[in-house]
Amino acid sequence: MSLAKVLLVDDEVPFVDTMVKRLSKRDFEIFTAYSGQEALDQLQEHPSLDVVVLDVKMPGMDGITALKQIKSKFPLVEVIMLTAHATVESAIDGMKLGAFDYLMKPAEIDELVDKVKKAEKIKRDREEKIREAEAREVFLRRGD
Ligand SMILES: [Mg+2]
Repeated sequence: MSLAKVLLVDDEVPFVDTMVKRLSKRDFEIFTAYSGQEALDQLQEHPSLDVVVLDVKMPGMDGITALKQIKSKFPLVEVIMLTAHATVESAIDGMKLGAFDYLMKPAEIDELVDKVKKAEKIKRDREEKIREAEAREVFLRRGD
């Protein structure tokens, strides 16, 4: 099985750098973005991305706006919201808008790894179901 492809999105560059170093040791292929727009560009460029870890509070396009766009343009991608204590309500709103889960900053690396793996599994299971349904449809059509 190929490595899970994870996009880290946060406007705090040192935070992203630290997380990249830690997550790269955990069998993930890591991509980065420092704004919501950059995240959308990365998804456009790398359609096989599996999981987005998305900061709630960013200048310009905030995390919730980015989430809405990600979910509308790339519906199979799973999103984990990253939040500080002050913005936890936004993270909960994010889950109502289709985010898989949220994580409080400073993110505990083991917890993040665990959530990313769960999100990736959900995505793979859903993709598998879609493939099965498509195969069934082809089969049924052949019977026409
Ligand atoms: Mg931020």
